[in-house]
Amino acid sequence: SLSDKLQNIFKNLRGKGRLTEADVKTALKEVKMALLEADVNFKVVKQFIKSVEERAIGQDVMQSLTPGQMVIKIVNEEMVSLMGSETTEIALKSGNEITVIMMAGLQGAGKTTTTAKLAGKFKSKGRKPLLAACDIYRPAAIEQLRINGEKQGVEVFSMGTNNNPVDIAKAAIQHAKNNNFNVVILDTAGRLHVDEDMMAELQHIKQEIAVDQTILVVDSMTGQDAVNVAATFNEKIGIDGVILTKLDGDTRGGAALSIKAVTGKPILYVGMGEKLSDLEQFYPDRMASRILGMGDVLTLIEKAEAQIDEEQAKKMGEKLKKAEFDFNDFLDYMGQIKNMGGIGSILNMLPGMGLGGQMKNMTVPDDAEDNLRRTEAIIYSMTAKERANPDILNPSRKNRIAKGAGVDISEVNRLVKQFDQMKKMMKQMPGIMKGAKKGRFRL
Ligand code: GDP
Ligand code: MG
Repeated sequence: SLSDKLQNIFKNLRGKGRLTEADVKTALKEVKMALLEADVNFKVVKQFIKSVEERAIGQDVMQSLTPGQMVIKIVNEEMVSLMGSETTEIALKSGNEITVIMMAGLQGAGKTTTTAKLAGKFKSKGRKPLLAACDIYRPAAIEQLRINGEKQGVEVFSMGTNNNPVDIAKAAIQHAKNNNFNVVILDTAGRLHVDEDMMAELQHIKQEIAVDQTILVVDSMTGQDAVNVAATFNEKIGIDGVILTKLDGDTRGGAALSIKAVTGKPILYVGMGEKLSDLEQFYPDRMASRILGMGDVLTLIEKAEAQIDEEQAKKMGEKLKKAEFDFNDFLDYMGQIKNMGGIGSILNMLPGMGLGGQMKNMTVPDDAEDNLRRTEAIIYSMTAKERANPDILNPSRKNRIAKGAGVDISEVNRLVKQFDQMKKMMKQMPGIMKGAKKGRFRL
């Protein structure tokens, strides 16, 4: 399997001292072969190898890791980023407004099963879902949905096989309105292969009905085909996200690695079995571990990283006591925030730590990552003296810095203000780094 192959490749790497450029290249050639054999799309593999190589060669090896572990770390991180990094939730409308979800996919992919599984998820979130039986080609399909709905304690709306799917969907939505349902999931018909009739039917539904979310269900066992299917559905009907089923089999998840890269659409959930409870949120980091099959090494890497954070936090705590916190530390601190999943995630943790009142003064921009980058640019435009003594930042210095960073002076002012806030905040909260780290690893 891919996992075995990768383990072998990395075992060889670990035996060596420091990695040379040639070592990285040789190892990645083998990784490339292994990924291709695991049915990862060749374009994705090419790009993937390129980014890992770019990062691996010439990068400092973290002190507590061997060069081989360092390559694993980079391979892992690039895999996570390829799969979208973050977990994506299905967007539901608020209150009693009805969210219409259309399930699409080939026959046997797992649409009907997943429809009922999703209904269970929504129900547990306090939603009131209604399932609509829009597969009119197989009477057994309606019965299957009815039985699964019953198991979930969720109502199934059906009009038999003599109405067309558009009329059924319209009637279901009307029924939902009249009876206070707030999610309607349309279970549609699939075909064995991508064909014009199926696409036309789905397009027709989308033309006639305000579908909020089109969710594609694909069978992970079909490997690269799953990716092609996703690309075609996205092109023909437009999809919002993917649910990858049958990951409980021995598939290594090659499809998972490519879907986001090829379609630009996230994987939302993964099917982990036939039981209706076997639907799990998709975590890119868990999937990367699965594909790499190296849980022990990844844990080791996380521990090493945590240790470094701890050391830095301790150092910073000492600086704070001496009121030495400057823009160099701010830069370090930002690096750590990035490692922890962005500034938003840090600030979200604050209310629970008794800082709710201070939150009002802090801005959490939507484009937090972009903001981090601009902030870095501003600090890099400061002289060493300015970074170490922020108090000397007068208007003319700020003006020069703004020009250097290519930003407006108001941004520099805002950063200085933020810096002061952060300084205050950190003084009050020496435990912030420790607490934040707890939210870091989901495994
Ligand atoms: P549909 O034709 O797309 O509606 O597919 P179905 O929902 O009828 O599922 C086809 C088959 O796949 C059924 O036997 C399901 O029990 C099975 N199935 C669906 N999802 C999963 C999964 O995540 N794991 C496993 N092992 N089987 C699944
Ligand atoms: Mg079905």
